[in-house]
Amino acid sequence: MSDLQAAAPTPSGLHYRTVPVTAFAQNCSIVWCGDTRDAAIIDPGGDLDRLLAEVQRLGVQLKAIWLTHAHIDHAGGTAELAARLNLPIIGPHPGDQFWIDGLPQQSQMFGFPPAGHFTPTRWLADGDTVQIGRCTLNVRHCPGHTPGHVVFHSPQAQRVFVGDVLFAGSIGRTDFPQGNHAQLLSSIRERLWPMGDDTVFIPGHGPESTLGEERRFNPYVRGQ
Ligand SMILES: [Zn+2]
Ligand SMILES: [Zn+2]
Repeated sequence: MSDLQAAAPTPSGLHYRTVPVTAFAQNCSIVWCGDTRDAAIIDPGGDLDRLLAEVQRLGVQLKAIWLTHAHIDHAGGTAELAARLNLPIIGPHPGDQFWIDGLPQQSQMFGFPPAGHFTPTRWLADGDTVQIGRCTLNVRHCPGHTPGHVVFHSPQAQRVFVGDVLFAGSIGRTDFPQGNHAQLLSSIRERLWPMGDDTVFIPGHGPESTLGEERRFNPYVRGQ
């Protein structure tokens, strides 16, 4: 759990709350603009009733679904949530089309409720931006764990939502179809590190950390 709102000195700017969902304890983040209370939900993998209860408790207005990549624990609830609330689906990068197509098989394989198929309202590319209320986040394409993986970076809030690219003390798996270890390391080195050592990242699983901490101590990427 993480609640930037409690620590923030002012209500404007970007806020978020992370709620672990599914049997994989995937960190779904509800992010919102402090000025307008418009919210986006990053990676609604499942447990939609819990997520919607949290949205209601926070008193924010859900406007969009943002996806880092199309693995079942991140994207499994997308079709149903988009249909229930008529939300646009933003992302991931088109490299993950085959993972979206494979969601029904993924749900069967991992014992998830059947995941509906969806077509993103908007695909994302490196250098794009996404907007929620008055907050703008930068999109970086970070392939390696999946070919179409993207991350959402707020330079103002010094936060980046990295999905399964980087974890506290570890990195994403690359033993899936079209996974690529060397590419994952380049993504981390060339697209995450330049965001700065003080940037806090919210990974798809487990606790938050800073990029600087991982650059110094994470055995998988130390010295990269
Ligand atoms: Zn994944
Ligand atoms: Zn994951």
